[in-house]
Amino acid sequence: MFEKLLIANRGEIALRIHRACHEMGIKTVAVHSTADADAMHVRLADESVCIGPPSATDSYLNIANIISAAEVSGADAIHPGYGFLSENAKFAEIVEAHDIAFVGPTAEHIRVMGDKVEAKRTAGAVGLPLVPGSPGAITDLAEAETIAFEIGYPVLVKAASGGGGRGMKVVEKPEDLSSSLKAAGQEAKAAFGDDTVYIEKYLGNPRHIEFQVFGDGKGGAIHLGERDCSLQRRHQKVLEEAPSPALNAEARAHMGEVCRKAMADLNYRGAGTIEFLYEDGNFYFIEMNTRLQVEHPVTEAITGIDLVREQIRVAAGLPLSIAQEDIVFSGHAVECRINAEDPRTFAPSPGKVTQYHAPGGLHVRADSALYDGYSIPPYYDSLISKLIVYGANRNDCLMRLRRALEEYVIEGPKTTIPLHRELIEQPDFINGDYSIKWLEEWLAAKG
Ligand code: ADP
Repeated sequence: MFEKLLIANRGEIALRIHRACHEMGIKTVAVHSTADADAMHVRLADESVCIGPPSATDSYLNIANIISAAEVSGADAIHPGYGFLSENAKFAEIVEAHDIAFVGPTAEHIRVMGDKVEAKRTAGAVGLPLVPGSPGAITDLAEAETIAFEIGYPVLVKAASGGGGRGMKVVEKPEDLSSSLKAAGQEAKAAFGDDTVYIEKYLGNPRHIEFQVFGDGKGGAIHLGERDCSLQRRHQKVLEEAPSPALNAEARAHMGEVCRKAMADLNYRGAGTIEFLYEDGNFYFIEMNTRLQVEHPVTEAITGIDLVREQIRVAAGLPLSIAQEDIVFSGHAVECRINAEDPRTFAPSPGKVTQYHAPGGLHVRADSALYDGYSIPPYYDSLISKLIVYGANRNDCLMRLRRALEEYVIEGPKTTIPLHRELIEQPDFINGDYSIKWLEEWLAAKG
């Protein structure tokens, strides 16, 4: 096993990784920007190294400085968390070239899945059901028109290197196709430096359901069931739950097996998430994330498996700790993403936390790097806490979640806690009756 692991991230996920390491007897190295010198992950880690100024480009995305920090501290592994360098194939390659273990898949798998056109092709080849659309990148308008006509309007123009919901344009009618292709290409070029686009059928009212998978890199793979992440604002997840209220055990077992087998066939290594849209009983692959997801704790809650520990074990060359037939899905879990934002306008609200009290009690988990007197810097993502609540069944879980949200105190910055309190009282949510459109429609209606 590793002796020392460098955490190439910040915030709650840096803390989450630190916790898994210390439980496994692994020492941790925190890296941080000058804006994060007082961060909780820096305080808790065994060692810390400053890697640059506040701007992420100069610090958390600065490969040379992170590698130097690993060399200076003698770390034998690097965990990239999510975001930042977690899906950067070049980073994975450089880490391994320095004889440091990368806690993640091979650079090649990261590269393939990071290009959505390649990812779709690969997913199709290993038997995952796809959204109907162009077989590859769109190179000319006539071809695009033919494909759009065949699959039927509305269609969605998507960027091959898209992420965070950017570079996507819905096209309602043929006259708009040309301008949407241009607009999506330009947006993608500006955001990701790549103007490659492709076309997909635009599904009217699907749910977003994703499967958690794990591979040992040698043809062994398991799936850990699904998460329902349909509650989104601007294609960003707001609240996630496991299991999905829309699937029964049979559908879960069937799709889980399709995903498991696909990962085994790819010799996939480490944690991954296969994202689908789900409509009228059918799954449609949209993308695969080759990293730990923000919402991984709901899966941990219903399976009892520590996903970060599993990632570290696999990176160290150990076999998967559990066989598919021994995985038991039990109870229900919900995660609320709490952001330092105005709960009505969603304007960022960084600044000093004057009072902090996290809820507790049975089956309540608050993954957060906040503390009394901490100042949330304005430079990074606004996620400041994840509240994860478990119950023996969905109703039990929602009752406990209501109580936990009631108890949560974060004074100083504005947060989205009031939004979650209101959201979980909505009859459609209580009934599990929502699609990817629901949250935005509800927000628009309440004004
Ligand atoms: P990103 O990498 O930017 O997150 P995804 O491909 O994962 O992009 O899509 C993000 C979200 O966009 C999905 O969860 C869904 O809400 C919406 N979406 C993506 N593809 C489609 C589609 N073909 N039809 C309808 N909605 C879609």
